[in-house]
Amino acid sequence: MDVVDSSNLQRQILHNLDRVGMRKVDSARLTLEAMNPDLKVLTYDTRLGADNILDIIDGYDVIVDGTDNFPTRYLVNDAALLKNIPVVHGSIFRFEGQITVFNPYVGPCYRCMIPEPPPAELAPSCAEAGVLGVLPGIVGSIQAIETIKLILELGDPLVGRLLTYDALDQSFRTFKVRRDPTCPACGEDAPPIVIAEYDDLCMPHPVGV
Ligand SMILES: [Zn+2]
Repeated sequence: MDVVDSSNLQRQILHNLDRVGMRKVDSARLTLEAMNPDLKVLTYDTRLGADNILDIIDGYDVIVDGTDNFPTRYLVNDAALLKNIPVVHGSIFRFEGQITVFNPYVGPCYRCMIPEPPPAELAPSCAEAGVLGVLPGIVGSIQAIETIKLILELGDPLVGRLLTYDALDQSFRTFKVRRDPTCPACGEDAPPIVIAEYDDLCMPHPVGV
């Protein structure tokens, strides 16, 4: 739901200078179709929200989450649990990246790993904090590998494992992430999942309350 800006181009490689001002979904579709005209690309030029997420993700086998803010990540998590769709998660911050796979009710979910979002001043966006331009490509490529593995049922997906990459010392590390039995979304005694607009704490906030 955005247009291409020249400041995006060092990290958002689907776009180029000729496309500045074009809708991002149209630019992305053009690039992908130019690489492979057999692709069927469906675009959604809209802000992902509580009112449309269940319709948008319906019928897909995998969700690849490259979002850059906490409310959307919690929204994707809760909707994916409801629809039982695995999420390939990637995030970046300056020189570091993190990748994991959330397989609903098999491994941990995003709320198991990060029960509450950090305060806003500790979680600036890419535009605010800056990010090394090649980093999203590295993290995105690893997400693509995990997506192909899930679809083809190959190898060991990053379920219950958080892979981190540090570009400054060129190191990868893996951390175990466990399901939280008291998780408010996927725990044993969790209440039914409500998809509503999310408040500052990323909890569902029923409209009108
Ligand atoms: Zn959970």
